[in-house]
Formats: sequence, C-alpha cells, structure tokens
Amino acid sequence: MIHVTCFKCRRRFDLDPVFVGRELRKLKARQPKHYQAVCPACHSVNKISVGEMRKDLDAVADEIEATAKEQAGQSSGKQ
Ligand SMILES: [Zn+2]
Repeated sequence: MIHVTCFKCRRRFDLDPVFVGRELRKLKARQPKHYQAVCPACHSVNKISVGEMRKDLDAVADEIEATAKEQAGQSSGKQ
C-alpha cells in the first residue's frame, strides 16, 4: 500500500498501487510525473510523485498489466 498524508487536513489514507498504476495508464501523458489522490476526508487533491511510488508500482506491474487487459476485454461480453 502507498501511504499518503493529506497536505491539508493531515488525514492519513492508503492507495492501492494496482489501482494507482491503472489510473496512471489511463492518463494521456506517457510519463506522468504525479498521481492526483483525492483525500477521503476533505477532498483535497494531493499530488503524489510517481517517482516516490515507483517501487510499489514496479512490485505490482504484472497485476496492473493483468487488470488493464481484463478491463479492455470487458466490452466483449463479460459474465
Ligand atoms: Zn484532507
């Protein structure tokens, strides 16, 4: 899990690296530098450096790849 502390309200929350990796892939930018995490408490946007999450993202790279494929296949008749 990627631990984030909201810059505004100091609330701590966790990000699932698989989810983050998937969101990053959806972005238009090929090498996004930041991920925008929305604080669950105050809804402020926290910019998380992708470089800081690199290790977490690399650790689940296969999983991110798998879910991305899964999503792409969802349009063609999912059960
Ligand atoms: Zn907050």
